[in-house]
Amino acid sequence: MKKLSPLLVDIKRGSLEDGPGTRTTVFFKGCPLSCPWCQNPEAMDPQVEIGFYPRCCIGCFDCEKVCPEEAVLNRGDVRIDRSRCTRCGKCADVCPGKGLRRVGRYYEVDQILEILLRDRVFYEGKIETARWFARNRLPLLAAERVIAESTTLDLMDLPEEAF
Ligand code: SF4
Ligand code: SF4
Repeated sequence: MKKLSPLLVDIKRGSLEDGPGTRTTVFFKGCPLSCPWCQNPEAMDPQVEIGFYPRCCIGCFDCEKVCPEEAVLNRGDVRIDRSRCTRCGKCADVCPGKGLRRVGRYYEVDQILEILLRDRVFYEGKIETARWFARNRLPLLAAERVIAESTTLDLMDLPEEAF
């Protein structure tokens, strides 16, 4: 049987965004939607892409030397002529500043599972802690709140002779 090798953009451990609670999020490549609010447009293309991050570029142009298609440009924020680029990734492999990066990586399913299960103890521990808090501390806090809310300053109304 052929092994599945999904193409992922990223695997984020301890993620707080994109859903409830703390979890490990797997970002697949090849999203067929085009939501106007998309925060991960690099996940749309179902193939590995080469991304350019101008802030990381140190201007060495090693990328230009290795590109077999003469697709490297020196045009401000545009480094690659997409009409020539074959996405071979040679430029990203030699880039010292990570200005050019491969966006997307193939994983074996077992590899993904291994990463997902790494934080299982932590996540389950968190749930147990929340359960303990709900069972043991919340009833106490609720009772103290009722007492505090029903207490008035009348308690301090003592006759003068009491002093
Ligand atoms: S190899 Fe990387 S750091 Fe050097 S010019 Fe190209 S993108 Fe910039
Ligand atoms: S991915 Fe390959 S073809 Fe595209 S710019 Fe880089 S070296 Fe050139």
